[in-house]
Amino acid sequence: QSVIHLEDIRKSYFIGKNELPVLKGVTIDINRNEYVALMGPSGSGKSTLMNILGALDTPTAGKYILNGHDVSSMEDNELARIRNQEIGFVFQQFNLMPRLTALENVAVPLIYAGISKREREDKARAMLEKVGLGERYKHKPNELSGGQCQRVAIARALVNDPSLILADEPTGNLDTKTSVEIMDIFGKIHAGGNTVVLVTHEEDIAEHARRIIRLRDGVVESDKMNAIKEIVA
Ligand code: ADP
Ligand code: ADP
Repeated sequence: QSVIHLEDIRKSYFIGKNELPVLKGVTIDINRNEYVALMGPSGSGKSTLMNILGALDTPTAGKYILNGHDVSSMEDNELARIRNQEIGFVFQQFNLMPRLTALENVAVPLIYAGISKREREDKARAMLEKVGLGERYKHKPNELSGGQCQRVAIARALVNDPSLILADEPTGNLDTKTSVEIMDIFGKIHAGGNTVVLVTHEEDIAEHARRIIRLRDGVVESDKMNAIKEIVA
């Protein structure tokens, strides 16, 4: 069962009258519970592709089917629902709300879902426990380390139980030790049955994934299964 079906996806940016083609025909299928690392040189179109996968941006041409729904033809309000309900997005810069506590940040996606404050807080607490941040839930982002902020962001991405977890350079701002901790969390998310796609330019990080897709100059250069390693629970 395909979670993601991309067919000849093209994306150009227009700078004045100049067209800058960034994705030049990308075709990829990703099945349920795959764990994919998206790699490629800077400027090859990784972030652009992730933004399309995350329904943050729309392709110029081509088809994007997510869980059987044609995202490429959706209106903005439908895209907003998909972003909230079907996708959890983790960013390099964490993108937390600075004035909200860790708990409140995690609970934000639940507001849209229309559930009570009490239930939102219970769910957010449970998610923070799951990512190993049971303690500091009353702290604000500027009172947390980078690794702790990323845990909060991961908890927020998971709180609506999305069918797809996307992460764009999730360890890009973290030291090596913290990066390994964060990758262990993604490993557990995958082991729990989730579909995970993450962008990284570090081979060590990509080794955690089961499949490595390399982009070059807006096209898929290679798409290979990774050697399977034992996951230490
Ligand atoms: P990567 O993530 O692989 O580094 P990006 O998808 O960020 O690649 O960028 C691919 C190309 O598209 C780059 O040349 C970048 O400058 C350009 N680009 C990305 N976003 C925009 C944008 N919003 N407007 C114009 N050009 C953009
Ligand atoms: P990454 O490190 O993820 O590749 P970048 O630093 O290339 O990200 O880009 C950060 C953001 O700026 C992205 O959202 C991208 O779409 C946007 N961007 C990148 N290049 C350009 C550009 N030439 N013009 C406008 N926006 C851009």
